[in-house]
Amino acid sequence: MNDCLFCRIIKGEIPSKKVYEDEHVYAFEDIEPKAPTHVLIVPKKHFRDLKEAKVEDAEVIGRCHLAAAHIARERKIENGYRTVSNVGPGAGQSVFHLHVHLLGGRPLSWPPG
Ligand code: AMP
Ligand code: ZN
Repeated sequence: MNDCLFCRIIKGEIPSKKVYEDEHVYAFEDIEPKAPTHVLIVPKKHFRDLKEAKVEDAEVIGRCHLAAAHIARERKIENGYRTVSNVGPGAGQSVFHLHVHLLGGRPLSWPPG
């Protein structure tokens, strides 16, 4: 996916502030943070969103959430943080490469808007 922003970030073609990386997952600071911690965790494999995910993608989706838990522990925000994936434009998805937002470091109200 040459025209995908997050694929280009993963390849290093577009700069990002890396937070975590392993064989399957890349995590970086959101460019417009909505909380003191706002990290995006993306599978290195491109897929559009949860709607397109297949059973064989279950492991990497889980790995994204485990990476979020790891980052949250490192940042000592375990008292309360949120992992969220926006699916589709109606939910505010603007980049069509599946990603998990990790938000924390401030009180998080419920329900989200
Ligand atoms: P979503 O709206 O759920 O698709 O999330 C996309 C997120 O990507 C937004 O929170 C944006 O602020 C963020 N974003 C867009 N471009 C960049 C970039 N170049 N580097 C880091 N984050 C970005
Ligand atoms: Zn992509």
